[in-house]
Amino acid sequence: MELWYTEKQTPNVGITCKTISTLVVEKTNYQELAIIDTVQYGRMLVLNGMVQTTVKDEFVYHEMITHIPLFTHPNPKTVAVIGGGDGGTVREALKHPSVEKVYLVEIDERVVENSKRYLPEISCGLSDPRCEVLFQDGIEFIAQHENSFDVVLVDSTEPIGPATGLFSKDFYSSIYRALKEDGLFVAQTESPFFNAELIRSVYASIKQIFPVTRLYLASIPTYPSGLWSFTLGSKRYDPLEVDEEKILEIDTKYYSPEIHKSVFKLPRFVKNLLESC
Ligand code: SAM
Repeated sequence: MELWYTEKQTPNVGITCKTISTLVVEKTNYQELAIIDTVQYGRMLVLNGMVQTTVKDEFVYHEMITHIPLFTHPNPKTVAVIGGGDGGTVREALKHPSVEKVYLVEIDERVVENSKRYLPEISCGLSDPRCEVLFQDGIEFIAQHENSFDVVLVDSTEPIGPATGLFSKDFYSSIYRALKEDGLFVAQTESPFFNAELIRSVYASIKQIFPVTRLYLASIPTYPSGLWSFTLGSKRYDPLEVDEEKILEIDTKYYSPEIHKSVFKLPRFVKNLLESC
């Protein structure tokens, strides 16, 4: 018998995948968690019915949330990842030879435990000696730090439940204080097709706090609409001023020196969205 998994991504749109087996279904202290093996995308981490990552297309999201900021900063040493309990963003950050320390601040211990067990190709960086895993609310962690990080990566779930505050202006102000004087941060900011208002409000908030604000896009098949946005706030360095020749060769499948700048070339409807900010 064929079994299919459907994520209802919006009240009107969904994504459906043929499954091989369901490996985990559990209710954690924070959310409903499932790991499903699918034919097309391999193993898939699902939280509250929403696909977070899959073995086959995770490289796009994890490379793009990490390498754009880490190659914009000329010498990133200390990095904080907020959320990101699957470990993919940590794995990518550790590819940078300058990085000495990565804090992974995940609210839900069960996401890390299940990712370590069922998604080893994504979570492999979590056992690296340069990585420290903390089970804490990222809002609280960032508020406890000042002048501490070169780069902060906000690898969060959708803005519901404990992740709601990760999309707020207060949180971005708190990140500003937690960053060193030339630090920068990136947040995943959802789909320009389905979350236009959220993108506009996040971009406007970051622009009021950081001297450099930039939005870029990447194509992620399992995320709603397939087109995903990331918003960067920086105290000093501009990703558009990076010398592509100086970008180190690292092992990637999506990110490249050419991609570094081209992803900031926005379709007209996305540009229009940001114009009023
Ligand atoms: N790539 C994903 C996406 O965009 O769909 C995000 C994946 S990652 C699994 C998101 C993680 O953020 C979840 O494991 C969730 O538990 C964590 N999270 C949500 N709110 C948080 C908070 N306030 N502090 C720390 N972690 C949080």
